Amino acid sequence: MFEEFKGQNLMDFMNVFPTDESCKEYLAHYKWKNGFKCPKCGCTEEHHSKKPFVKRCKNCLHQESVTSGTLFHKLKFSIQKAFFILFEISTTTKSASSEVYAKKYGINHNTAWLFGQKVRNAMNSSLQHPLKGKVEVDETLIGGKEPGKQGRGAEKKTLVVIAIEKNKDENGIKRAYAQVIKNSSSTQLSKIFQEHVDKSAEVKTDKWTGYIPLMEKWDIEMEKSVAGKNFELMHRFIQGLKSWIRGIYHHISSEHMQKYLDEYCYRFNRSIFKETIFDKLIQRLILHEPIYLKDIKLCQTNLNR
Ligand SMILES: [Zn+2]
Repeated sequence: MFEEFKGQNLMDFMNVFPTDESCKEYLAHYKWKNGFKCPKCGCTEEHHSKKPFVKRCKNCLHQESVTSGTLFHKLKFSIQKAFFILFEISTTTKSASSEVYAKKYGINHNTAWLFGQKVRNAMNSSLQHPLKGKVEVDETLIGGKEPGKQGRGAEKKTLVVIAIEKNKDENGIKRAYAQVIKNSSSTQLSKIFQEHVDKSAEVKTDKWTGYIPLMEKWDIEMEKSVAGKNFELMHRFIQGLKSWIRGIYHHISSEHMQKYLDEYCYRFNRSIFKETIFDKLIQRLILHEPIYLKDIKLCQTNLNR
């Protein structure tokens, strides 16, 4: 009987996933939940396969492993290690850099980095929950050179636009999204509105002309920012995001910034659902098509365009 893994207890986790097989069984449940369908010919009948966690198409004899066609495809370390890393990512509020995971699990640093990028891709917003109610939007500069540091860290700062939805009492943030933008023109600013802000939302921004054209479609009220006094929740969110990046990743170049923003918002938006965050993340990885190093480089180029 399949049971979704819940909770944050490491001992429970080790009991449920003591081997690679137990992890593959978990993946198999989600991958073939609605039955088998051959990715090559679409046939839904399977031929008996002797190999565990491999399905064979009755029509074209194509063999489909539990990991193929997912983000676990061609993983260079054991599925169990991947599960442990995902468990840590889901249960610790702070996450850790690929360097830490590489050392901890005895895997190559580049391999760990690539896996982290894949996970971050899976954390990409589903765009299905636009912000509603009281929303605030603001831009900020993140990253870049720290005082006194030279060389590798000497990158320029990245411009980021942030949208938050306040909770009912307006004393906290319900959900948040962040996007890298090239400049603060309305064209660049409009993306976060289109993807993440519901038309019914009451939006508040600072007095920046870039928001004016967006007033045609969104209900935007502009208010002069008074040294953080009136946009307190937004400022707190920005401070939290910045210190998370500083504490864990030290420096993130502009090309990679979006994935880290996605990770932060994914965690932030689910922090009250910690019990099921691991299970949800596994589902995202198993339903996500594979990503290769070349794809990651490609999306960097797209961002630079
Ligand atoms: Zn087939």
